[in-house]
Amino acid sequence: MTSNSARVQAVFQIANREPLPATGPERLEEIWAENVFNLSKMQASLPKSVFRSIKNTIVTGDPLDPSIADAVATAMRDWAMAKGALYYAHVFYPMTNLTAEKHDGFISVQGDGNVISEFSGKVLVQGEPDGSSFPNGGIRDTFEARGYTGWDVTSPAYIMETDNGSTLCIPTVFVSWTGEALDKKVPLLRSIVAMDKSARKVLKLLGHTNVAPVNSSCGAEQEYFLVDANFASQRPDLLLAGRTLFGKPPAKGQEFDDHYFGAIPERVQVYMQDVECILYKLGIPAKTRHNEVAPGQFEIAPFFEAANVASDHQQLLMTVLKHTAKKHGFVCLLHEKPFAGINGSGKHVNWSVGNATQGNLLDPGDSPHENAQFLVFCGAVIRGVHKYGPLMRAAIATASNDHRLGANEAPPAIMSVYLGTQLEEVFEQIKTGTVTESTQKGVMDLGVAVLPNLTKDAGDRNRTSPFAFTGNRFEFRAVGSSQSVSGPLIVLNTMLADSLDWIGNRLESELAQGVELSTAIITVLKEVMLSHGAVVFGGNGYSEEWHKMAVEERGLSNLPTTADSLPVLKEEYIEDLFEKTGVLTPVELESRFEVYAEQYILSIEVEAKLVVTMAKTLIYPAALEYLSKLSTTMANLAGLGIAMESEVAKTVSELASSMMTTINQLSAALEKHDFATTEDKMHYCANTLRPLMDEVRSYADALEGEVADSLWPLPTYQEMLFVK
Ligand code: ADP
Ligand code: MG
Repeated sequence: MTSNSARVQAVFQIANREPLPATGPERLEEIWAENVFNLSKMQASLPKSVFRSIKNTIVTGDPLDPSIADAVATAMRDWAMAKGALYYAHVFYPMTNLTAEKHDGFISVQGDGNVISEFSGKVLVQGEPDGSSFPNGGIRDTFEARGYTGWDVTSPAYIMETDNGSTLCIPTVFVSWTGEALDKKVPLLRSIVAMDKSARKVLKLLGHTNVAPVNSSCGAEQEYFLVDANFASQRPDLLLAGRTLFGKPPAKGQEFDDHYFGAIPERVQVYMQDVECILYKLGIPAKTRHNEVAPGQFEIAPFFEAANVASDHQQLLMTVLKHTAKKHGFVCLLHEKPFAGINGSGKHVNWSVGNATQGNLLDPGDSPHENAQFLVFCGAVIRGVHKYGPLMRAAIATASNDHRLGANEAPPAIMSVYLGTQLEEVFEQIKTGTVTESTQKGVMDLGVAVLPNLTKDAGDRNRTSPFAFTGNRFEFRAVGSSQSVSGPLIVLNTMLADSLDWIGNRLESELAQGVELSTAIITVLKEVMLSHGAVVFGGNGYSEEWHKMAVEERGLSNLPTTADSLPVLKEEYIEDLFEKTGVLTPVELESRFEVYAEQYILSIEVEAKLVVTMAKTLIYPAALEYLSKLSTTMANLAGLGIAMESEVAKTVSELASSMMTTINQLSAALEKHDFATTEDKMHYCANTLRPLMDEVRSYADALEGEVADSLWPLPTYQEMLFVK
């Protein structure tokens, strides 16, 4: 047996693997939300007055009446137990990008030794997980180690079915006992409140008397890779780091000939159907489609929902993608860059704001009046991205996303806004004060009160922009595939709250001076464009010219790594933003910096250690084995009177020893622990560890091109990516 026999076996097994039987046929209407305790299930099981009360809390944001908790808990438990659930879990969203759960049984042992099922309002409303095992960025060191979860009434409870039984899951917030947010949900909810307040103020100034609460919406497009579990289990890097730390780019780049694995697309298809079916039962409106960009890469894009629910659903979707993959013999990779040289994965966060009375506020309307309103909200976004671009960058900063941002396939690390040709022209005209005539026939009607009539041009796309207007929403394209969408949504809502507040104040003072509304709007938008128009960019975001122009002429920040961008969270203007909007206290913000920085450092350290181990114990031995085989073969040939020079042996031995030298440098670099600040340590990771890791890799990948394939210990890119 050669040492790559596991690889050979894997290929053989995969080629002969039968897909699991397809799920269904199930009718969408029959399974839709069957595992969700939603309003209709509440209506069916709750007393009328209780239902009315909880509906008001969910729909209009009225405070929760604590006296109804018992009734809701009982109905929820009965529903869950009838569906086979024996456990319930408070689900929460710690400051990492993960989801956490604390499970408890409904069972309660009585004094007489009997057992009853119990689930009171009190346990529904509040839980107390072992908070100390979740990152808190120092918050609880200074106070107390306890953390509480609290029921989020606005995100429906659901049943998670697994092979080990079903669990009633209750989405919750996670706070310290002194009330600090330890999670991503609390700030998200607060950011919506802040945005709602400023948005309503502006809408009233625009003349609306009936103004419903404003919420933000999110539709996230999730990209992911599927790798066969037989290969993944032979790649310690995929298992521990979620990405390949080694691997020579395949000869054909992204266009493989995949007929050899003809059975596989069917497996993927069956997997996708299975995922969809689970998501439908959970009330998650998924739409699936194949992604042709990279081999083995796919995308799933649920329909947009209110930001808070969308965010919980997004977390759930990532869990379902991963769990279901196992069942189908795949490993689902959510990492932003699992394969070097192959397109990475993002999560486009489509974001808009709106309410029940005025609709989508980022949708250009049919009348000049609606368009004025649209331009005000759009102007607020422009101001926000310009003022808080570095914060947007920080919100998507992770060790894994650093591999993707700025590569010529993903948006750059410079935050700019793409508006589309028509809208950019309108704002340009507002800036120069020449909103007088139509530039595109039939497009702008400037007859009425200097306000343009807009048409939608949703077809106008710019794939190179990190933040693009796409007809009735903005698409934050720089978000990473493994990230929680909460972080980006918090930042978008908060910066919009700040901008709308500023615009509201400016409009108010113009109106107070007797200026007509339409003129006041143009005046204020002109100011916005003069101060913040530099962030609008419609060109090629990948180009070198833009990188130069953005920084040198437009004064925008280019923050290429997490080490460069996370310290933004410590800047005073960011602290002010979060404090005045009530989204994060300075302590909460500081703790986020600490947690995110720690995550960054830890993930690079883990990868660096793994590079050392894999290179030493897998790749170096393969190189030596090959050298030894070569020398035996050459000796044998010499015995037959055939003299051969082996260039290959020379190359392999040089590469192997250079690799070993670099491994030793990396090992030594990992020993350094004395850093004055967290920032220093992050920069050390970015500027010392990462380059050394890359260097080890370059030798290893070169070796992969020299060493006999039969001796190579790791499944190759070609093998792993053939799954299509
Ligand atoms: P693309 O054309 O960008 O590939 P898709 O139509 O597949 O996009 O997905 C776009 C995502 O944007 C979907 O999740 C969709 O529901 C969401 N979306 C559509 N309209 C809005 C909106 N007004 N606000 C937020 N998200 C939206
Ligand atoms: Mg998109």
